[in-house]
Amino acid sequence: MKKFSRKTFFKGLALGTISLPVVLRSCMSQNNAQNGNAPNIINRKTYKWKLVTTWPPNFPVLDEGCKLFAKWIKEMSEGQMDIAVYAGGELVPPLEAFNTVRSGAAEAGSGAAYYWAGMVPAAQFFASVPFGMNAQQLNAWILCGGGLELWEECYAEYGLVPILGGNTGVQMGGWFNREINSLEDFQGLKMRMPGLGGKVLKKAGGAPVLLAGSELYTGLERGIIDATEWIGPYHDYKMGFHQIAKYYYSPGWHEAGTTLEFFFNKKKFDTLPNHLKVIMQCAAQRLNIWMLSEFEAQNGLYLEKILAESEVEIRKFPDEVLAQLRIYTDEVIQELINKDPFAKKVYESYNSFRKKAVAWSELTEKSFYNSIQI
Ligand code: CA
Repeated sequence: MKKFSRKTFFKGLALGTISLPVVLRSCMSQNNAQNGNAPNIINRKTYKWKLVTTWPPNFPVLDEGCKLFAKWIKEMSEGQMDIAVYAGGELVPPLEAFNTVRSGAAEAGSGAAYYWAGMVPAAQFFASVPFGMNAQQLNAWILCGGGLELWEECYAEYGLVPILGGNTGVQMGGWFNREINSLEDFQGLKMRMPGLGGKVLKKAGGAPVLLAGSELYTGLERGIIDATEWIGPYHDYKMGFHQIAKYYYSPGWHEAGTTLEFFFNKKKFDTLPNHLKVIMQCAAQRLNIWMLSEFEAQNGLYLEKILAESEVEIRKFPDEVLAQLRIYTDEVIQELINKDPFAKKVYESYNSFRKKAVAWSELTEKSFYNSIQI
């Protein structure tokens, strides 16, 4: 941008040798240079990005949330940032999202960090671990307790930038066609239970089975599996599990609140003007609160529907069963962190925060919940 002295500037304007657009650009340049953000205003370059997700097309809350994220960013940036959302399988298979964004074939992705645990063992702690922190505690650790810095350090190794993008809230323990009265009842139990929860189930004598979401209804109906976990009443109702299972168990000890994520190709993300980065962070935070609220609202509604429309019995896992599953969980986590120094570093931060959060919640939330009734 050509700079003019005050005298030359006004003279040029009076004589018509400097046009009005040049005057405006010059004013904006000087004004914004003083504010330190000249390129952002002058450069209205538009960005057309692809976001590849791990969610099925039109999946309530999760795929829905990614579309809201893109819509809000477009609105806030007045069209400067235009993100096209591709559900799992539309551009690449769901679990290819991480590597697709690493390669730069798409700029952004959405998932849950534990999907990448095979490649990135520490990622587990940024999503959910059995008997771990709930949504409120995870938000606190990630946003205000050092978790995000560790997450950024973790993903930087893979050329990615993570942003917290939602939480499911506490999930249900799953649908069973077998009563769970003691640990013995896990013997030989064929259950769909991914991740660390599956490893804990195996220690308890069960047989974790990997089945895609689309195969769960038929699997449970035909007895290929005896039980399955999914999410909570809203999504579980839509899967129809209440029509074919006898018992719906609580709590979701394996997923007390699962953090969802956006991840960006770091090279592409770093090229964005600062205001677009801030807009994306604001949209993700808005989504975080929207998602937790939507889960809370819909789960309450659909729990009522399940109870009204089916014969399913709501059960709670016995305390001694949960106590033993906690012991197995500690073993599984120790095995995980012994193999991976970075996972150990993340776990130490996670667990130190968790202990303080649990001590606080014992006095407050837990005590309050114990005091109330429907
Ligand atoms: Ca689940």
